[in-house]
This record gives sequence, C-alpha cells and structure tokens, in this order.
Amino acid sequence: MVFVHGCFWHRHAQCRRTTTPTRRRAFWVAKFRANRARDQRCTRLLKRQGWKVAVVWECETTNRNELRARLARLFATRSVPGTAIPKVSEPTQPAQMDASEKRPNP
Ligand SMILES: [Zn+2]
Repeated sequence: MVFVHGCFWHRHAQCRRTTTPTRRRAFWVAKFRANRARDQRCTRLLKRQGWKVAVVWECETTNRNELRARLARLFATRSVPGTAIPKVSEPTQPAQMDASEKRPNP
C-alpha cells in the first residue's frame, strides 16, 4: 500500500514545504500532531494485517523519472506477471490535491 502524503499536512521532515502557519499556531500544531498520530496508527494497523506500507511524499512526485524508479523498487519484491509499472506519461495538468488537503491562505 502506497500513501502519497502532502508534505505540509503530514509533516515531511526537513522539507521546505513543511511550514507552520503563524496565525492560530496552537491549532495547527495540534492538527499536525493528530495527523501524524493517525498516520502512525493506520500504518501500524495495515502492517498488522499483512500490508507492506510505503510513503511517497508530495515533493517526491515532481521528478517523474525518480518517482518511477522509486515505485519500481518498492514493488520489485512483488513481481507478478502482468503487473509491471507502466511508463509514466506526462499529464496535461499537475495532479490536484483533495480540497481538504489544500493549504490555508497566508
Ligand atoms: Zn516534502
């Protein structure tokens, strides 16, 4: 199972996108802490059920060749005929984030 985490919301360590709004700082710190706790809880539950869990960070999706190589490595141990990762074609528009994942206005 591969999660694609937004760096801001899921707090990618030492990433320039991992900022903390200055307004209502306590709210944001609590929000981020809850997000991280939920991520850890979900990962633990999925692993307990036998899933291999990996995270791809939002900032890692900008270089498609590197992303493709990373996904190929992640899935290398599960080579099932007919499931090879297809060559990534360039989308006409960048992937859109879910509305609930958008950053607040500064
Ligand atoms: Zn990042």
